[in-house]
Amino acid sequence: MFKEVEAYPGDPILTLNEQFGADPRANKINLSIGVYLDAAGKMPAMRAVLQAETALAAVLGTRPYLPMEGNAAYRSAVRALIFGAEHRAVSESRVATAQTLGGSGALKVGADFIAHYFPKAKVWVSDPTWDNHYSIFGGAGLTVGKYRYYDAATGHVDFPGMLAALEQLPAGDVVLLHACCHNPTGADLNQAQWRELAGLIRRRGLLPFFDIAYQGFGEGPDADAFAIRHFAEEGIALFVASSFSKNFSLYGERCGSLSVVCDDSTQATNVLGQLKATIRRNYSSPPIHGARIIARVLDDAGLRAEWLAELEGMRLRVKAMRTGLYDALSARCPGLDFSYLNKQTGMFSYTDLTAAEADVLRQEFGLYVLSSGRICLAALTEGSIAPAADAIAQVLK
Ligand code: PMP
Repeated sequence: MFKEVEAYPGDPILTLNEQFGADPRANKINLSIGVYLDAAGKMPAMRAVLQAETALAAVLGTRPYLPMEGNAAYRSAVRALIFGAEHRAVSESRVATAQTLGGSGALKVGADFIAHYFPKAKVWVSDPTWDNHYSIFGGAGLTVGKYRYYDAATGHVDFPGMLAALEQLPAGDVVLLHACCHNPTGADLNQAQWRELAGLIRRRGLLPFFDIAYQGFGEGPDADAFAIRHFAEEGIALFVASSFSKNFSLYGERCGSLSVVCDDSTQATNVLGQLKATIRRNYSSPPIHGARIIARVLDDAGLRAEWLAELEGMRLRVKAMRTGLYDALSARCPGLDFSYLNKQTGMFSYTDLTAAEADVLRQEFGLYVLSSGRICLAALTEGSIAPAADAIAQVLK
């Protein structure tokens, strides 16, 4: 019956991770993953999360199905976190928000919605982007193209190139934008550039789809949502897929959200209805546990303050790892310029390492980086900076 079914080659990132797990070398270092590790190299269980969970355990009751759109308290807390509680779009009830299965689930529900209502729209993603963007939007039946984004020569965004590419797109096409902490490059737009881009998007009648999977890891939770808030302020209809995997360290609880900013509250009600229908067709309704924890943390002033402080500590730790790696590499390779490390933000940086160099790093030094050259600074520790820099310096010489 299934002889035509081909073997799955595996996801490139997850496969490397499996290889790392099976690697017997004691001095191995994994910078290929996309998770935040603490100073001891362990995935943290955040204090506010544990406290909320303990409190919830005492009142745990039955576990009915959630509504298709998810936990109501969670949905409004998430919306306030993304847009700011005072945002006009929120107070005018123009934002339709559904709880989703992580950021991936939000992208999938959004992609299905777009494929249904805007079947002719093409989706444009940055070159490069998180590979799963292609799979999710392509898998929903949409055509996915890429727009100019990263300039390897500067280690930054080729903003004029990006504008020129988007200027060519027909009205109604969808533009996927990383709101902060671009994955995989770490190269973000600044606020003046976001403002200019908003003008173009509005003038050309494009439909922005923001992906915010690292809110809090760039400049802080509010600053990281600047682009979304500004676009919505400018009256631009838009989508936002958000994820709590990293900033709550709740990867396996699959907590995310999809918000759609509409022109008025009637549209928002209708859009939410159709998001519910999309969810019903996919998985009926989301799970209970993670959303309860997050709603509790965000709605309790004390827990929220504790979470924000811990998140700030995580953000600063990643920044310190950037500077640490920059110093270590600059000392070892005096002729080479690593300033891109300090210019880029978030958990990742795009190094100039080639796929062949990534292979050598893995095989000879037990240092795992993606074949694209992406490294995860959030997985570095004080102790792994020197050996990682030694290995990279040897390969670059
Ligand atoms: N978007 C981007 C840019 C990501 O990096 C990720 C996670 N790697 C996601 C979405 C998906 O988030 P989640 O793990 O919550 O599904």
